[in-house]
Amino acid sequence: MNQQNCCGSKSALKLGLKSGHVIKKGTFPRKGRKRRVPRYQCKVCGRGFSLATLLWTYYQKKRHINTTVRRLLLSNMSLSRTAALVGVNLKTIELRVQQLGAVCQEKNRETLEKAFNGKCATHVQFDEAETFEKTKLLPLSLPVVVTNQRIILGFDVCSMPPHPVYKDRSEAKYGVLPDDRIKSLRKLLVSLKSWISEFAEIKSDECPRYPWTVKKVFPGAQHKTFYARRAKPHGLGELKVGAFDPLFAINHTLAKLRANVSRLNRRTWNTTKRRDRLMSHLWIFIESHNRYILRGLRREGIPLALA
Ligand SMILES: [Zn+2]
Repeated sequence: MNQQNCCGSKSALKLGLKSGHVIKKGTFPRKGRKRRVPRYQCKVCGRGFSLATLLWTYYQKKRHINTTVRRLLLSNMSLSRTAALVGVNLKTIELRVQQLGAVCQEKNRETLEKAFNGKCATHVQFDEAETFEKTKLLPLSLPVVVTNQRIILGFDVCSMPPHPVYKDRSEAKYGVLPDDRIKSLRKLLVSLKSWISEFAEIKSDECPRYPWTVKKVFPGAQHKTFYARRAKPHGLGELKVGAFDPLFAINHTLAKLRANVSRLNRRTWNTTKRRDRLMSHLWIFIESHNRYILRGLRREGIPLALA
């Protein structure tokens, strides 16, 4: 066993304790924690470590703010207002967004794996939302894939050409922007191959980029396209006019993102400054959203649409 793997993670610790190459070695008290933190020693490399070493909160000076920060960030609060409310520096919140994003991404994967239990979604919908980085001259596309029960399977962020209104100014300042929307959607669909059945029913709007992209990744799937209706005035640009919406799952999910992730609000001066922070912020929201949906389905006794 090499030095990095024998005592570097929680799962390695569990295995080590089972096989006996990691032994318990006392505990130490920690402020704000009821129980003492256990210490361990690895008999292979001699390294001493504690449970705290393996947690994502390692070396954090203000770990008591983590839960509050996570809740505020998924409740339409901006980073600077979160910092002001919690009473810490903006840089602390920026770091937490990054760390929480990674933790939530991993947690979401585990939650979905547990819920899906080796099966695949049979009914999915996807669409792209638009946002921007710093200014509308640098627009971003946000492809999102959900199941018909509104479980978010994945998303991606990529650059796209600006709106015709901003085209000249954008080109003068930033040059011609790449249009990565096809590449990004294909990458996203490929990454979701283990979650989506190869014979799934995939719904989207009538964007001309979609049919052959879907066909390339899921040749056996049934791709249904629907005319994209006008948005309701109060629907955050995502909920559509008219009664029955065949793309309700994706439209409602995008509306929820717009309403609850502050940087995706419409008519706002909250903007994304960095693409990676947008992704982290989204993972924080998605983890909680998926848990909420799954809990609701469990409570109502509705089975997941899986095969
Ligand atoms: Zn070791």
